[in-house]
Amino acid sequence: MTTSGRLANGYFLCGVALSAMAFAAPDQFGGAVYIFAALQTVVVMLVASRRNKVPKPLVVAVAVLGCWYTLTEIVASTVGTTGLPRLLTNVMDLMGSLLIVVILVLLVRRHRSVNASAVFGDALIVGLGSWLISWVAFLQPTLERSDEPLISSLIEGLYQPVGSVVLFLMAVQLFADSGKNISTVYVAAAVISVLVGDLMYSFVLAGHMSASVLAHTDALYALGYFAISAAFLHPSISWIARPSNIEDSQRLLGRLVITTSSLVFPVIVLAASGPRDTTDQVVRSISALVLAGAVTLRVVHSVRANSDAQAELLRAAQTDPLTGLPNRVLLLERINSYIHESWRADREPTLYFVDLDRFKNINDSLGHSAGDEVLRIVAERLISVAPPEAMVARLSGDEYVVLDPTTKTLGAASKLAESLLAVFREPIALGQGDVFVTASIGVSSIDSMAAKPEDVLRHADTAMYRAKDSGRNCMAFYDESMHERIAHRLAVETALYRALDRHELRLFHQPILELDTGEVVGFEALMRWQQSDGTIVSPAEFIPIAEETGTIVPIGAWALLEALTQLRRWIDDSICSPQATMSVNVSPRQLADPSLPSIVSEALSRSGMDPSHLWVEITESVMIAEPELALSSLQKLKSLGVRVALDDFGTGYSSLSLLQRFPLQRIKIDRAFVQGVADNPSDRALVRTIVAMGHSLGLDLVAEGVESLHQIQVLHELGCKKAQGYLISHPVPADAMRSTVSALERIGRFPLLRGEHRAGQL
Ligand code: C2E
Ligand code: MG
Ligand code: MG
Repeated sequence: MTTSGRLANGYFLCGVALSAMAFAAPDQFGGAVYIFAALQTVVVMLVASRRNKVPKPLVVAVAVLGCWYTLTEIVASTVGTTGLPRLLTNVMDLMGSLLIVVILVLLVRRHRSVNASAVFGDALIVGLGSWLISWVAFLQPTLERSDEPLISSLIEGLYQPVGSVVLFLMAVQLFADSGKNISTVYVAAAVISVLVGDLMYSFVLAGHMSASVLAHTDALYALGYFAISAAFLHPSISWIARPSNIEDSQRLLGRLVITTSSLVFPVIVLAASGPRDTTDQVVRSISALVLAGAVTLRVVHSVRANSDAQAELLRAAQTDPLTGLPNRVLLLERINSYIHESWRADREPTLYFVDLDRFKNINDSLGHSAGDEVLRIVAERLISVAPPEAMVARLSGDEYVVLDPTTKTLGAASKLAESLLAVFREPIALGQGDVFVTASIGVSSIDSMAAKPEDVLRHADTAMYRAKDSGRNCMAFYDESMHERIAHRLAVETALYRALDRHELRLFHQPILELDTGEVVGFEALMRWQQSDGTIVSPAEFIPIAEETGTIVPIGAWALLEALTQLRRWIDDSICSPQATMSVNVSPRQLADPSLPSIVSEALSRSGMDPSHLWVEITESVMIAEPELALSSLQKLKSLGVRVALDDFGTGYSSLSLLQRFPLQRIKIDRAFVQGVADNPSDRALVRTIVAMGHSLGLDLVAEGVESLHQIQVLHELGCKKAQGYLISHPVPADAMRSTVSALERIGRFPLLRGEHRAGQL
């Protein structure tokens, strides 16, 4: 226990001793102890306000109370306790009690957990109920016996109800905080001792007790003051300054019990004792009427508050807190109602699934609050273009849905989708500057065939992914075939997870030929997936899925090691030249993986190959989507001594400056241009340009997909000295490579490249 805690407890014990003295010898000490007790609160309040964190207005109010009651006591002892002076002291007493009520009302309002208006309603009921009891038990009998002025007795009759209200508010205030402490106990002790004093007073006036008891009430009041002082001296009083906000059903129950008792007891009292005279009957009737009125008002208030709270809960459950838009729950409900209505309307309610493109980049680079701001602005813009009958909802993250019940035709749907896309043309102004966001939109309509709201949503989602696949910033309409594709894709995805463990993946190899010498200078490793039933899945189908799901990382690591180990064996078995190289395709996801350099160097060391034997093939897309990331990965690979080839060159959008920036040593001319190189002058011109550019940048050139002698000859003429393609060899399994290479060597240089044929052909 702290020193100030001990001090407070000691102070209280001294107070108890003094009060006991006053109780034992009221005639000698009663008045003096009372005045001392009232006055010491003023001093203690000054000390307490400095030591403990207590709200100033409260300290002042308690100090004023101390002074006030001292004054009342002095007035009572100097001017007497009968007639007009008695009325004066009664008024002063009542005002003091009302001041306590005001203090408590202010304190109760500080607690956010307490519904203040409900508490005051309950307090009114408690007050009125106890007034009724007070009237029947004390006031009415007092009036019968007393010769004091009526008003004076009436005021005395108010002590009990006001006291009950104080007790009730005190209880609410004390139990509004979950942590009970010693100050709470002192405050409770103070209130109870004062109330007991008041009760004794009322008993005496009503003739239920002898007047001699009255002398002891001073001691009880004094004890109340000492207890209050101890409470404020104790450091735990700072709970008063800490408004709690914990909602607790147990507290509500406690209040309900008190309020109900305030109704039940008066009813019992009224029923058990009949009215003594007409005045009694009138007062009882009016009081009961007022009490009934207060209860009715309280019930109405409570019902209204309840339904408001329910409406608020429902609203919160159906809205997205960030944008204030309806959420998935409300959207599904609305879709459901449209499904049921759709058969009788000539309209086709349509769903537009809007997903922001690369929203993650904004969150990652500008922070989440910027991301939130973008989401809010997008919500506003979508609302601004959606038809007034449409619902704009936010599903999660960067997904919105516009549900328009008025769409009639496909044309109208595409027009609305267009205008939804158009809202992204304007940049979004953020604190950090303007950002551009685009979106992909999937459109699906609700017809009477639609089974469930979730299905409609999934269809629109599927279409949205189609839009993403076709390059983003566009729209796609849902059709049945999409569904089948998705189902197939899902099946592939699941099987692919296990393919590596089940040894279903294999590498085929395609030789790369040096056209001048006819020598096999390298191989490209191309993955094949032979499923358990024997079907071979093409990499064009499963690599994108592996890429999307991330399985490409372990699969790619396996391919690197497997391809290099294979080359080691071929060199060792003299199947190819000791300088032959291996080209391995590396996808964007692999390149983004920070562990790629270590995977590569591990594959090199485990296979025992020198880095100069490895070509890593990347596509242009990695240089455009995430240039910085790709650049740093490639630089690490370069520092290992590994060379990098740009695959499928010409199909992407890379610029000359990108080619210069990236550490590339080879470009592979895409099959699309090679195919037309023999017959199509513009393809030939393009290949000529690519070759010239490659030479000027000092890059090695390989032509892909060579299928005819004519193509090979033109390529050679244009200066491209390396080629691969079906003409030379299809990709073959490893064990077929010995015969493939020896067949190629038997042919030697391609006949067309020999001078005698060239003259005849061209
Ligand atoms: P790519 O790297 O451009 O590979 C060349 C593709 O062209 C191969 O298709 C090959 O079989 C095919 N091809 C070769 N010569 C000819 C020809 O004369 N005519 C025609 N029409 N096609 C020819 P494949 O094996 O189906 O591979 C497709 C793509 O899958 C590859 O394109 C590559 O991007 C990717 N891929 C293959 N294996 C892997 C791998 O292990 N890892 C990664 N990340 N991607 C791979
Ligand atoms: Mg390749
Ligand atoms: Mg290629």
